[in-house]
Amino acid sequence: MIRSFHPPRRILLGPGPSDIHPRVLAALSRSTIGHLDPAFIGMMDELKVLLQRAFRTQNPLTLPVSAPGSAGMEACFANLVEPGDLVVVCENGVFGARMRENVERLGGRAVVVRDEWGEPVDLNKVEDALKAHPEAVALAFVHAETSTGARSDAAALCQLARRHGCLAIVDAVTSLGGIPLEVDAWGIDAVYAGSQKCLSCVPGLSPLSFSERAVARIRRRTTPVKSWFLDLNLVMGYWGTGTKRAYHHTAPVNALYALHEALVLLEEEGIENAWRRHALHHRALAAGLAALGLQFVVAEPHRLPQLNAVYIPPGVDDAAARAMLLADFGIEIGAGLGPFAGKVWRIGLMGHAARKENVLACLAALEAVLARFGVRAAGAGVAAALAAYTAAEGEKAEGHKGG
Ligand SMILES: *Cc1c(COP(=O)(O)O)cnc(C)c1O
Repeated sequence: MIRSFHPPRRILLGPGPSDIHPRVLAALSRSTIGHLDPAFIGMMDELKVLLQRAFRTQNPLTLPVSAPGSAGMEACFANLVEPGDLVVVCENGVFGARMRENVERLGGRAVVVRDEWGEPVDLNKVEDALKAHPEAVALAFVHAETSTGARSDAAALCQLARRHGCLAIVDAVTSLGGIPLEVDAWGIDAVYAGSQKCLSCVPGLSPLSFSERAVARIRRRTTPVKSWFLDLNLVMGYWGTGTKRAYHHTAPVNALYALHEALVLLEEEGIENAWRRHALHHRALAAGLAALGLQFVVAEPHRLPQLNAVYIPPGVDDAAARAMLLADFGIEIGAGLGPFAGKVWRIGLMGHAARKENVLACLAALEAVLARFGVRAAGAGVAAALAAYTAAEGEKAEGHKGG
């Protein structure tokens, strides 16, 4: 007989999903009500406000797409790209490559600006591409490249897009909630995120926001949006303002309760405090990893605190080491993708997972696992992380005295 499924206990330190706060799981289990129930519509209105605050935008077209981050990506391209349109796409990892594919599948022309995996997007190359292609309608890039752990300068890239009369389409799946993201101040035109990374909500939702300029572009389309499900003209009939909402698809009611709760938690903490928390635990983890002798893929100024990519030391069996972390310590870390497969580990500190006990547990476990493969660094990782926490406490105390 097949019985109820009870997942094992895990600490999720991979590239997503991340650990979920118990309050979010509790919200998920509340009774399902109709997706056109006035009480539900009231919750949706709050959810839009919470998303606008998290994205730091006034954009009225701000909503969660009822599907994972990949669908948020498709929604941006499906609505903004028409056949023949030229889009400059920055590719410095897996997700930039997917953006390019989206453009091409829609009949658009992608001009690719390539950077090495682990490098941020090169502003000079982007500027050259925009100069060479004045007909470009959009510049698309990934703010936080989860496949490599590199952060690109989103503010500067958006400025370039604006200067060349392009819309800026930004993948913020891993950035939202983990590092500063300023949709209005930076002039982002279309942005999509994910529920399961630094928001620590269940997978399967993609917060999205479009500027007035992006909405104007949808209005000027001469061909219908190629995706029925992701056509924002239709989606807005359900998510739009006022009490009259038309059925478009059945909203994932309970998942939306969970997103509402995750965003309430973010407000209670304060988004800037959440950014600081990710930075703090990253510093401690980085100190510990360095003490273990592990090398980061990304140069320090461009590292994402929420995604730490390190080279696997020679002699260590990637799959066996990750299997041991999972089976003996209940810790999930991420494998390398594409050219990084077998060469790199990706240690996520996303959302609710970005906590001291997880950093210390991860370092202690890694040390034990590495020792199994003959890489020895007795006690050094945990001690280095603890020292980093003590130093941060000291700085905070100094700051309080000074201010
Ligand atoms: C995870 C991720 C996606 C895709 O999100 P899914 O929810 O897995 O569909 C897109 N872009 C980036 C940068 C991501 O990290």
